[in-house]
Amino acid sequence: MLENANDWSDTFYEKWKPIAMGFVNGAEKCLQCGKCTGQCPAAAVNPSYNPRKMIADLVNGNIKRIVSSIELWQCFFCSGCFATCPVDINFPFFVFMTRLAAMSQGFGWEDVKQLQKYAEQDYLSDGITVSPSERNPYVLEERGDIANIREEAGMPRKRQVTEEAVAEINMISDLSGMTSFMKKIGGVELYDCSKCTPRIEEKCKTKELPRKVGDIKTHYRFYNYGVPTGGAENA
Ligand code: SF4
Ligand code: SF4
Repeated sequence: MLENANDWSDTFYEKWKPIAMGFVNGAEKCLQCGKCTGQCPAAAVNPSYNPRKMIADLVNGNIKRIVSSIELWQCFFCSGCFATCPVDINFPFFVFMTRLAAMSQGFGWEDVKQLQKYAEQDYLSDGITVSPSERNPYVLEERGDIANIREEAGMPRKRQVTEEAVAEINMISDLSGMTSFMKKIGGVELYDCSKCTPRIEEKCKTKELPRKVGDIKTHYRFYNYGVPTGGAENA
């Protein structure tokens, strides 16, 4: 399944192929054994996703298919394919670098926007990564035993990150360019503190750590608008 090509040029392919071949360090040695695909969790749930075929496309010059494909965005970098490959092809790194190349050609931005939501809601908001699952009431129920074990050990039932650590994460995000990147894809919303509603005031986690953008005192919308109400916080 292909996205609409909106900025394609053959010169891009000419430049990209030798670089991509370098990413995978010997793609031409691929045995087409299919071990990578056979153990890939993404391929298990997306029948059209096939790392073996993507390597074949790379070697055979079908680069446009890879760069413009939706499948390029289905890998989640578990590295199982790399671990199992008999000729040590670093497929996850290939995916990572190819995504950058794809974005430079105008592909994949909608997929990145979906990831941005979690970065804003979770990572920048409360410092907890992989928390979409922790916000899911069904997962919370499944993992109730873990919460009980935490409680018995004297820990909070849910993981917690201090406000200071969250502020540091945001500083790192600013310095590394992640914040500006997310703004570029339409992500992070800066909130003008003077326009805070009581509800936002109540939920805002960084009102003690305001930021100035120009003359406006702002903070990110650091409140847990993604948390299901009624019980998820205490589950
Ligand atoms: S496991 Fe390695 S050699 Fe086998 S198909 Fe995948 S990339 Fe090619
Ligand atoms: S790193 Fe990506 S392609 Fe490799 S096994 Fe994991 S999800 Fe599949």
